Amino acid sequence: MALFTQAFRRFGASLFQWIDSDYSLETPEAIRAQPDGVNLVRCIPFIVLHLGCLGLIWVGWSWFAVGAAVALYLVRMFAVTGILHRYFSHKTYSTSRFGQFLLALWAGTSVQRGPLWWASHHRHHHQHSDEPVDAHSPRIHGFLWAHIGWITSKRNFPTDYSKVKDLTKYPEIVWLSRYDIVVPVLFATSLLFLGRYLEHAAPALQTNGPQLLIWGFFVSTTALFHGTATINSFTHLWGNRRFDTTDDSRNSFILALITLGEGWHNNHHRYQSSTRNGFYWWEIDITYYGLKLLSYTGFIWGLKPVPKSIYEEAAHRAHHDTIRRFSISSVQDEINTLKRVVPTAAAIAIATVNSPEVAAQLKMKADSAIHKDLTEQTQHPGTPSHHSTGSN
Ligand SMILES: [Zn+2]
Ligand SMILES: [Zn+2]
Repeated sequence: MALFTQAFRRFGASLFQWIDSDYSLETPEAIRAQPDGVNLVRCIPFIVLHLGCLGLIWVGWSWFAVGAAVALYLVRMFAVTGILHRYFSHKTYSTSRFGQFLLALWAGTSVQRGPLWWASHHRHHHQHSDEPVDAHSPRIHGFLWAHIGWITSKRNFPTDYSKVKDLTKYPEIVWLSRYDIVVPVLFATSLLFLGRYLEHAAPALQTNGPQLLIWGFFVSTTALFHGTATINSFTHLWGNRRFDTTDDSRNSFILALITLGEGWHNNHHRYQSSTRNGFYWWEIDITYYGLKLLSYTGFIWGLKPVPKSIYEEAAHRAHHDTIRRFSISSVQDEINTLKRVVPTAAAIAIATVNSPEVAAQLKMKADSAIHKDLTEQTQHPGTPSHHSTGSN
C-alpha cells in the first residue's frame, strides 16, 4: 500500500511539473544525483508534440500553412541560437531589462523549456564538455542519448539555479522559466485562432485553425527541436576541428545552415563570449547577421567580437596543419614511388639473370676464363697464374 501511495505521489508530481517545472518531491540536488532514467509521465507533452505531427493526415496542407511552418522554424531557431544560446547562456551582447523580457517571451515560443533551464544546462555542458558528467556528450552516452535521450531523463529536469545567478535577480525571467508551458500554450492557441480567422477573412489562403496549428506548431516545433539537437549530437561527431579543444566539438557548414550558425561549434567551444560563431566571412552565421541588424535598431547593443588572439591562434594552427599535411604528403609520395619502383627493378633483375641469353653469355664468360687459365698453365708450366700473382 505504501509503495502504491508513493508511486501515485510521484505520478501526481510529474503531472504537476507540466505546469510548475520547479515543483518536486525531492531537492533538485537529490534528483541530479540519481542515475539517468526516462521520466515517461513528465515527457508526455514532449511525446504529444511528436505525435501531433500525425495530424497532417487529417488537416492536409496549403501553401500558407507550409510557409508558416518554415517561417516559424527560422524565426524560432533564431530565438534558440540568438537568445537562449548567445544571450541567456553566454551574454554575448546587451539589452534593456524590458528588451530581455521580450527576448525571453520570443524564446518561449521555441518550446525548449525556460531560459534559465536552457542556460544552466548549457553552461554545465561548456564546463564539462565530453566528460562523464556532461548530460549530452555523444562520446560518453552515444548518439541517441546525446540527441534526444538526455532531455527525457529525470535528472536533467531541474534547473541548476547556482549556474545562472546573474539571471535569477530578474523575477520575470524566473517566472517564465518556472512556468515554461505558458508561452507555448499561448503560442499554439494563437495559431489555432489565427487559422480560424483566416479561414473566413482570407479563404483564398485555403487554411483553417487545425491546419495552421498542426503545421505551425506541431510540425515546425518538432523540426525545431531536432534541428537544435543536432548541435548536441552531430557537432560533437562530424566535421572539422580548427581548434585543438579538450572536447570533440567540430565545425560543420551543413549544420551551420540548419541551425542558423551554430554549426561552427568548434569555434564556439574555443571562444564562447563572441556574438558570432562563424569567425570568417565564409562561415555563414545567419544568427549573427540577424543580431547585427537588431543592433542597428538600438534594441540590443555591445555585440562582442572575436579577439585578435583567437584569429592569430587560428592562423597559427592553419599554418601548422598545412606544413604537417605537406610534409606527410611529400614523404608519402616518395614512399609510394619506392613501392612502385623497387619491386619492378627486382623483377627486371631476376628476369634478366634467368633469361637464356644472359645465362649463355655468363656461361661463355666463365668458360673462357677457365680456358685462359688452363692455357696459361699448359704453356707456362710452373708460372703462377695472374690470380695467384696478386696474392704474393
Ligand atoms: Zn558542445
Ligand atoms: Zn555555448
